[in-house]
This record gives sequence, structure tokens and C-alpha cells, in this order.
Amino acid sequence: KLKLENIHKSFGATKVLNGISLDVAQGEMVCLIGPSGSGKSTLLRCLNLLDPVDDGNIWLDGEEIADPSLDPQPIRQRIGIVFQSFNLFPHMTAEENVMLAPRRIFNKSRDALMPQVEALFEKFGLKERMHHYPDQLSGGQQQRVAIARALAMNPEIMLFDEITSALDPELVGEVLQVLSSLKQDGMTMILATHEMAFARDVADRVCFLDKGQILEQGAPAQIFSHPKEARTRDFLARVL
Ligand code: ATP
Ligand code: MG
Repeated sequence: KLKLENIHKSFGATKVLNGISLDVAQGEMVCLIGPSGSGKSTLLRCLNLLDPVDDGNIWLDGEEIADPSLDPQPIRQRIGIVFQSFNLFPHMTAEENVMLAPRRIFNKSRDALMPQVEALFEKFGLKERMHHYPDQLSGGQQQRVAIARALAMNPEIMLFDEITSALDPELVGEVLQVLSSLKQDGMTMILATHEMAFARDVADRVCFLDKGQILEQGAPAQIFSHPKEARTRDFLARVL
């Protein structure tokens, strides 16, 4: 589905990704964990072509996507991304936020999109909130709208960067619930997360990033219970 091969990325003299290789299968949920500054967000941004890679290849279903001479727009439509800050447009209702990109890019009418958009709101427990503005929604609701907005483009892969980090603790569960349901639906997902319990219980695979490299990866049970690397053990001892 998605294949990364030897990705390198620097900002100025700072080497941020130092040879990342990763295969993600259809329907797989991969969690990226690791210390602050290890390169998790940069990796997700490179995957979404928000930042160009310096070296290495990214394949999406066998098609090379990291080539800077390609138009990134059609590829970005196939790879959704959601950030810690929900970035909803404040002057638009939840529904308008979700409709905006598919209306513009697929040139579809509101009526044509409504069944799918209503189904998304229903699924995420937001049916009553469709016509609310972001400032009338809780953080958890806003983040669920932001996820719905990304899904409205029918992406093949979803990337999530610490999407629960800005939420009050009591709102984290409802957002993680949405991720679990997406996994049930077979969505291919890569998450950078500090939610270790969630990674342990729901991920198919956990990758520990350290200094721009995947130092260790494996099934959650293996990484959390029997980490091989001392730096993984140290990290887990600090966060668990
Ligand atoms: P956190 O857990 O704190 O979110 P992270 O693993 O997501 O950390 P990144 O945000 O990918 O880490 O940052 C990796 C390194 O790259 C850091 O040293 C950061 O300062 C640097 N960096 C990230 N983006 C830029 C940028 N646009 N310009 C310069 N340096 C950057
Ligand atoms: Mg980050």
C-alpha cells in the first residue's frame, strides 16, 4: 500500500529524518512513538508532501509520489492528514468545513455530497452539531469534525499527528473511539501519538523513532513488554 525507502530530511544543518524505511499494508494501523524532536511530525508531513524529502522514495500503491516534479495535489487527496490543532475555518459551520474541499475539488453540489456527509456526522456522533460553528463545539467535537473533513475526500490513507494532545483528558476517549472505528472499517492509518495505552491496545504495529531513525518496530505487545533497545526501554520507562 505505502512504502517508504530510506527517507532523509534536514532543516538547514539539522538532520531530522535519517534513513526511514517503512512498509504499511492495506488496513494496517501503525503508531509512531518516540521522544520529542525524534521526527514523527516531519515524517507525517513528508508523507503528505507538505515538506519535500531530500532523499529516498515513497510509493503509494506502486506509484512513486515523492518526486518533486510531480503535482502534489492529486496525491494529497489520497492521503488525509489531521493535526493536533483542528484548524477548522471559524466562520464556517461544521458541515461547511467538511463540504468545502470536496465541493471545490470534486466540483460536487451540496446536495450530492449530503448523504455521505450526513453519514459521517452520524457515525461520529455529531448529527446534532452539523450546523454549529467551531466555537460552539467542544475540542473533542471539533477534532471529530476535522477528521470527518479529511475523510470527506475519500482518502486511501489517513495520517494523524498527536490529534488528542490538545484535548482535555475527558475528551480524548471520544476521539480515540473514532480512530478505532476507522480501523474497523479497514482504513490504513499512521499515527504519531503519545497515547501509549491506545497504541498498545489498537495498533497493529508500533515504531519507535529516535533521532530520525526507526530504532525498533514490532507488534505492540513486543515493543511495550519486551523492547530490545535500551533507548526504547528508557523512553517507555519515562512515559508509561
Ligand atoms: P514532538 O513529539 O515534540 O511532536 P516530533 O517527533 O514530532 O516531536 P518533529 O516535529 O518532527 O519531531 O521535529 C524534529 C526536529 O525537526 C526538531 O528538532 C525540530 O526542531 C525540527 N524541525 C521541524 N520542523 C522544522 C522546520 N520547519 N524548520 C526547522 N526545523 C524543524
Ligand atoms: Mg510532533
